[in-house]
Amino acid sequence: MILLFLGSPGVGKGTYAQVLTEVLEIPHISTGDLLREEAKRDTPLGREINEIMMKGELVPDHVMLKLIEERITHDDCKNGFILDGFPRNLVQANHLQNLVDITHVLNFKADDEVIIQRLSGRITCKKCNMIYNKVGKKPEIEGVCDKCGGELFQREDDKPESVKKRLDVYREKTQPLIDHYTNKGLLVEVVINKHIIEIKERLISQIKAYLEGKINKIEEIK
Ligand code: ADP
Ligand code: ZN
Repeated sequence: MILLFLGSPGVGKGTYAQVLTEVLEIPHISTGDLLREEAKRDTPLGREINEIMMKGELVPDHVMLKLIEERITHDDCKNGFILDGFPRNLVQANHLQNLVDITHVLNFKADDEVIIQRLSGRITCKKCNMIYNKVGKKPEIEGVCDKCGGELFQREDDKPESVKKRLDVYREKTQPLIDHYTNKGLLVEVVINKHIIEIKERLISQIKAYLEGKINKIEEIK
């Protein structure tokens, strides 16, 4: 099973990917996480990536393609994987098509106000990348990751200036992929306007049923 997760920054796709990776027992590949690892390094490439991410722009395609090609050849990907954050434009999508057979594309959606609220409250673990939210899924102890004890922080690019740019880039570059995958008959919508955690179990069981071919649509939970 090769799943692509599409959707605007802040929609909740990363949070759902972190749950589904356990349920489906396939790895979660987040290009944002891979890039943040790379950006921590004090190398020319690390510094370049860091600068682009802070501006909310897209990292060049040749860098992304190399990163993805390398990651999906790891042993843990042999039964499939979840791609979260890739592809982000048509060049990347066309390239990916030559590498693997995508089985499903989940397009995560939420209203604009919900997205802005999620982005401004998001906090991430420095060590394991687990996602929390100041107004949503809070950690048990403030500032500390439940899973690994790591320190929680607000991503530099979750500050308002970068957020606006990321949402613009999403609309311009990534949104066209929705038509692309709809035309291929691969896309299903997943709407998450309600509190992510409250509806998590019901939504996850619908997503599972969809992936198993038992239902052909994922209903919004209201
Ligand atoms: P979000 O989806 O919340 O914006 P991500 O963690 O997926 O966050 O991405 C953070 C940043 O990493 C993006 O703003 C962009 O600069 C870079 N990035 C991630 N994936 C890609 C990609 N496939 N192509 C180019 N840049 C990417
Ligand atoms: Zn952690």
